[in-house]
Amino acid sequence: MLVDHHCHLDFPQFAEERDAIVARAVEAGVGMMVTISTRIREFDKILAIAEAYPNVFCSVGTHPHNADEELDIPQAQIVSLSRHPKVVAVGEAGLDYFYNRSSPEGQAEGFRRHIRAARETGLPLEIHTRDAEADTARILEEEYREGGPFPALLHCFTGGRDLAMRAIDLGLYISFSGVVSFKKSEDLRAIAAEVPLERILVETDAPFLAPDPYRGKRNEPAYVVHTAAAVARARGLSDAQLRAATTQNFFRLFTKAPRSAFITASVNEGARA
Ligand SMILES: [Zn+2]
Ligand SMILES: [Zn+2]
Repeated sequence: MLVDHHCHLDFPQFAEERDAIVARAVEAGVGMMVTISTRIREFDKILAIAEAYPNVFCSVGTHPHNADEELDIPQAQIVSLSRHPKVVAVGEAGLDYFYNRSSPEGQAEGFRRHIRAARETGLPLEIHTRDAEADTARILEEEYREGGPFPALLHCFTGGRDLAMRAIDLGLYISFSGVVSFKKSEDLRAIAAEVPLERILVETDAPFLAPDPYRGKRNEPAYVVHTAAAVARARGLSDAQLRAATTQNFFRLFTKAPRSAFITASVNEGARA
């Protein structure tokens, strides 16, 4: 069994066949999904998708790309929206200096606001970070030192060892996406082999970043199986061991996600290729 804790089921790529995508995930052994918010102003859309499926949950938050346009939304509103039973995480928020679609100051302010919302609610923050490792580590450490611990994970981790280990020191989790399965990702696989097993998660970030053998195609939650297999190989573990560990990690971090909502496929393991 597996969980895809980071996908974007509201994106237009999925509009035509969302039911089939959720069903295919379950058939592949992915019994639960979290669809991730990128704009609080579009939260209703995300929530409607989560409410349509017993095993789909959601987050609430503003992607760093959209940080500038949602700086008027206070922490208190994030906290109050997060009280809905379908909301199990905060984010995704963080820093993206690759695209720089919002100002660095706006991204940092949004990031800190979401960290504080995670601390206040106890819901894990899904952190997005790209080309911003030094500032990401600095803000995490400052917030930790000044305000105390908060539950969080670095989603779609593609950074260096330094950021990974500093995050681990703060109690954070590291989540790997399809990128870890790519041929040239040796450095990333070395990090996946080194971080403590009890801090590893896997995700798709669908519709983006499909793992091998689907690289370049539209991604979907069922494919998290291939990402998990790549991490298992990197660590010398069986697929079953890695699946069990990451699912256990998910429920330890996402304390609000009910285990009872996890859906197990009726087909047996052997029936699947
Ligand atoms: Zn992201
Ligand atoms: Zn995302």
